[in-house]
Amino acid sequence: MTPNTENNQQLFERAQRVIPGGVNSPVRAFKAVGGVPRFIKRAQGAYMWDAEDRRYIDYIGSWGPMILGHGHPAVVQAVQSALLDGFSYGAPTLREIELVDAILRLVPSMDMLRLVSSGTEAAMSAIRLARGATGRRKLIKFEGCYHGHADALLVKAGSGLATFGNPSSAGVPPEVVQHTLVLEYNNIDQLEQTFAAHGRDMACLVIEPIAGNMNFVRASMPFMQRCRELCTESGALLVFDEVMTGCRVALGGAQAVYARVLPGFQPDMTILGKVIGGGMPLAAFGAKREVMQQLAPLGPVYQAGTLSGNPVATACGLSTLTEIARSGFFDDLARKTRLLMDGLQAAADSAGVPFCVDCEGGMFGFFLLDRLPQNYAQVMRSDSARFNRLFHGMLERGIYLAPALFEAGFVSAAHSDADIAATVGAAREVFRTF
Ligand SMILES: *Cc1c(COP(=O)(O)O)cnc(C)c1O
Repeated sequence: MTPNTENNQQLFERAQRVIPGGVNSPVRAFKAVGGVPRFIKRAQGAYMWDAEDRRYIDYIGSWGPMILGHGHPAVVQAVQSALLDGFSYGAPTLREIELVDAILRLVPSMDMLRLVSSGTEAAMSAIRLARGATGRRKLIKFEGCYHGHADALLVKAGSGLATFGNPSSAGVPPEVVQHTLVLEYNNIDQLEQTFAAHGRDMACLVIEPIAGNMNFVRASMPFMQRCRELCTESGALLVFDEVMTGCRVALGGAQAVYARVLPGFQPDMTILGKVIGGGMPLAAFGAKREVMQQLAPLGPVYQAGTLSGNPVATACGLSTLTEIARSGFFDDLARKTRLLMDGLQAAADSAGVPFCVDCEGGMFGFFLLDRLPQNYAQVMRSDSARFNRLFHGMLERGIYLAPALFEAGFVSAAHSDADIAATVGAAREVFRTF
């Protein structure tokens, strides 16, 4: 281990001189909550240690991938043995087939998959494929859902009821998002009107079925059923962005959760990332055979990647999936996540703080609101000043929650009941100061 020479503050100042904002992904900068980001030195199991050797119980898990906790022995072993055989070949390998087979067994709505290196890349490629396969241009996305930072998906809602959105980032010309329609999550009327007006030109509808990028908001069953019906009627593809929820809310992802209530329910295309890479850069998109055969080299839709299907990343992903597919894994993960949520709810209730929670499998969300929000506008009503006090109060007590109101949280198999009890105890102290 490298000895401590610089503290978090010094590292942050040094990072800011050479990396924009001091970080390589914006949310890490703690801009929403203020204060100094923790520079992490190492992690093991449910814990991370910062540059000052302070330990935190980690509820971010690298924003989702670390479902087994950090440094799981079977995964470490698989990665070590893979890297001795070479880091990258740029040629096909057996392990790619094994990983794809493993994913297809878990998510049977797909016949074929293509492996890529990030969720952004997977979503961008999935959209291109949906457009190429349907020969159509328009796509629907929902306000508050995040699908990575491809230009066509960096869109926010227009003013009023306008469904055509505006770029949400500088550097994206309006023409690039002119075919992206931005709708309100869980709004069936608006969805029906949009399909009535544009259904014939609609290539796909992209949705986070449980939206973890507005903390934790479920698409209601009737809304999801309407999405499915309208896509089928109009010939548009229903694309599930399960980068966060895949192998996280259930072994089969959110689509398995919907299929419990809507028998036979399947999306047309699925985007995966995070857990399937177990912490390495790995993501994927897949669909039925007819759609996937439109991809190069079989079909006219181009897509490629130097590091796609990387041998070390596939070893990490495959060993992670092997562990989480063991019987009872998800039951125990869900039990612990529920335990945490019930504990936080009770802590808030006893302090009289408006608070509500939801969770599925190993993913959770909480809001400083009286009732669970259904869309982005309602999420925006959360009390951000109070959230920041909660965040910093917990951080000071060694509990690392997501440093933003709009982010889901994650429990891993490495979190013990004692870790959860310690977390709830810290929350009780913090809520009492509210
Ligand atoms: C994280 C995430 C992405 C982007 O994945 P990256 O690997 O960060 O590019 C896309 N969609 C959803 C739902 C995500 O949570």
